[in-house]
Amino acid sequence: MTEVYCGRCGLELTAGGHDDCGWALALEPPRYCAECRRRMVVQVHPMGWSARCSVHGELTSG
Ligand SMILES: [Zn+2]
Ligand SMILES: [Zn+2]
Repeated sequence: MTEVYCGRCGLELTAGGHDDCGWALALEPPRYCAECRRRMVVQVHPMGWSARCSVHGELTSG
């Protein structure tokens, strides 16, 4: 998988300045798909979370 967009703020990773985003994403699910920038459908559950892109499928924590 090629990560182009920041999962937290949705901006291009090449733009830089995503240090805070990286920390946040260690704790919380991404809001945006890293490949296509679509909004992810996020579900949080006691064991963690899942985030689903309609094109690229599901990411899960852990
Ligand atoms: Zn970011
Ligand atoms: Zn996607």
